Amino acid sequence: MSKYKKQPFAVNIRDLVRHPGEMREHDIVVNTPEQFGEGLIAVREGTPIHQRLRLESVHEGVLVTAEVETIADGVCGRCLIDISQGVQVEFQELFAYSGNEASDYEVHDDHVDLEPLIRDAVVLSLPFQPVCQPDCPGLDPETGERLADNPDRKPQETVDPRWSALAGFTPDPGTDNSDAVSKEER
Ligand SMILES: [Zn+2]
Repeated sequence: MSKYKKQPFAVNIRDLVRHPGEMREHDIVVNTPEQFGEGLIAVREGTPIHQRLRLESVHEGVLVTAEVETIADGVCGRCLIDISQGVQVEFQELFAYSGNEASDYEVHDDHVDLEPLIRDAVVLSLPFQPVCQPDCPGLDPETGERLADNPDRKPQETVDPRWSALAGFTPDPGTDNSDAVSKEER
């Protein structure tokens, strides 16, 4: 048994083995023993991983349906402020009894080890370019300040010189156009 202390995502399914039709549900929280992910945002070591599991005994093995929730920490890809994001993933996988070559995962010693599945699902769900808010304006290219901290200060809009001639132009309310319309109406 001590072997499974080093596999925190291994679940004992002894009472399901060779009992097709039996089903168990578990709510399990495991603190991840190492970081999941390598990008700007990742699930840090020691973060609780909440697993809602349904384990069904079927003829070939044990079918695992999992909903996994945790928190990823990192930085906004635009303004570099610290951010945390909820992570929610689901998967379903058959753990076959040993010797069944058709399956990628097997039941070992009355256990299923969910670690690779949870890790892959979580890591794949992490955004490549995480943002603190969908419209994060990023950093001021000149000062390096975070623009979201200064909502009044818009990024320096450089006016295209071709439009600068129009900058001083304001439509005159009494132009010919409005007269033309009113004449037609008469
Ligand atoms: Zn940001």
